[in-house]
Amino acid sequence: MYKVAIVGAGVGGSYLSYLLARNGVDTVVFDFRAPHDKLCAGGISYKAMAKFPVLEELPCPRKVVWKSAIISPNDRMTVMDLEKPLTIFKRRDLDSALLRKAQESGAHFRKERVRSFALEGDRWRIFTEAGEYRAENLVGADGALSRTRKKLQSPLDKGEYFFAFQCFLGVQRDFVAFKFFPDLEGYLWAFPRVDSLAVGIVAKECTREKYSDMKERLFCFIETHYPGQTKRICIRGAYIPFFSPKDFYEQSICSKNWALIGDAARFVDPIGGEGIYYAIYSAEILAACIQENNLPLYQRLCRKHFGRNLLKASQGFDYIHKTGFIETMAILAENSTAIRQIISEMIVGNIDYLTWKRRLRKKLVRIVADFMFNADFATKKEVMTNFVSLWYPRLGPYSKPKIS
Ligand SMILES: Cc1cc2nc3c(=O)[nH]c(=O)nc-3n(C[C@H](O)[C@H](O)[C@H](O)COP(=O)(O)OP(=O)(O)OC[C@H]3O[C@@H](n4cnc5c(N)ncnc54)[C@H](O)[C@@H]3O)c2cc1C
Repeated sequence: MYKVAIVGAGVGGSYLSYLLARNGVDTVVFDFRAPHDKLCAGGISYKAMAKFPVLEELPCPRKVVWKSAIISPNDRMTVMDLEKPLTIFKRRDLDSALLRKAQESGAHFRKERVRSFALEGDRWRIFTEAGEYRAENLVGADGALSRTRKKLQSPLDKGEYFFAFQCFLGVQRDFVAFKFFPDLEGYLWAFPRVDSLAVGIVAKECTREKYSDMKERLFCFIETHYPGQTKRICIRGAYIPFFSPKDFYEQSICSKNWALIGDAARFVDPIGGEGIYYAIYSAEILAACIQENNLPLYQRLCRKHFGRNLLKASQGFDYIHKTGFIETMAILAENSTAIRQIISEMIVGNIDYLTWKRRLRKKLVRIVADFMFNADFATKKEVMTNFVSLWYPRLGPYSKPKIS
């Protein structure tokens, strides 16, 4: 009989098993394919690296980047230095290093798929293809399409996910890039890893037509920026949970003897796509609750520590994509170092969705002065039009970007 059984040894499950085992909690973690190269760009913000020093200490290669390029819906490209670095891991390296750490601390790892589980009295019976296990507490850390969640909570429909395509190119770069589109609620990214470049695209609304459109955009981007690279690529797709206000207010992610963490609890930043940080953060909160024998407290603590930030991001998602917000920020970034600084701090996670407006207001005079001094008349007119539509959306569309 184990104290805790964890389904899934991705970043969340492995980190949780490490924390529990280190403190003497008898823990078993199941994963039929861990460690595997999960489809992921592997980018970890400075905020996450600073909060969880264990990531810095892991003995695995990583790429550290200090520059970011942003391409606006109207194809304005701004390259900016980052205030702090972004660290990019290969997921296989990251997951296996965390799992090894957990095993060294005494966690039991079973390379088995959990097929089902059932509550018998106040104990869980867990069935895998190899046998049966018993545990006092059950944790679902089995990712975006979590079957543990399906059984313990309500199933999700496709509208509650993003879909992403990603491939790897054999090229080396020293900066991350983000490209936005005028007619897509999502974005495209290029993240350099130690030995390759991860290029991907993510969007809301998962439909068949949307998938081919996204793939086409990805191909087109690769052909334009890395000519000749489309011949050898293998594109894979995966779901990413969309954290919504409903998740904040209504979903239940724990009870007295079970809990969900990471993607299974839908803890992914809906704007930036950052999920590794939240998988690790939720694991840390849950480990503390298990040790205090107070599992029901877990949900409240998640809300308190990062839930409001995710809620704010999900509330801002439509605003960011449907107005001229990104174009306006790109124009301002071209003309103001203060705005570039703010964007750079958002990319590395130093500013969150709850505080960025305050930071913007503090630097407003400087931003306006930079802009008035540096921008030409046409750009000023474009920004003014965009501002009108940002503040009064009903007055008409912002200066519509070209759809190519
Ligand atoms: C294309 C793409 C790019 C991304 N880029 C980034 C990024 O750059 N930065 C970032 O922070 N986040 C990124 N994310 C999100 C990030 O990958 C996830 O949020 C994160 O991996 C969640 O961790 P997790 O431990 O909850 O789940 P996962 O890492 O998905 O781990 C779940 C594990 O559960 C196992 N499992 C599933 N079912 C069972 C079962 N029945 N029995 C046993 N084991 C099971 C799986 O094998 C898997 O190993 C990206 C996601 C995608 C799809």
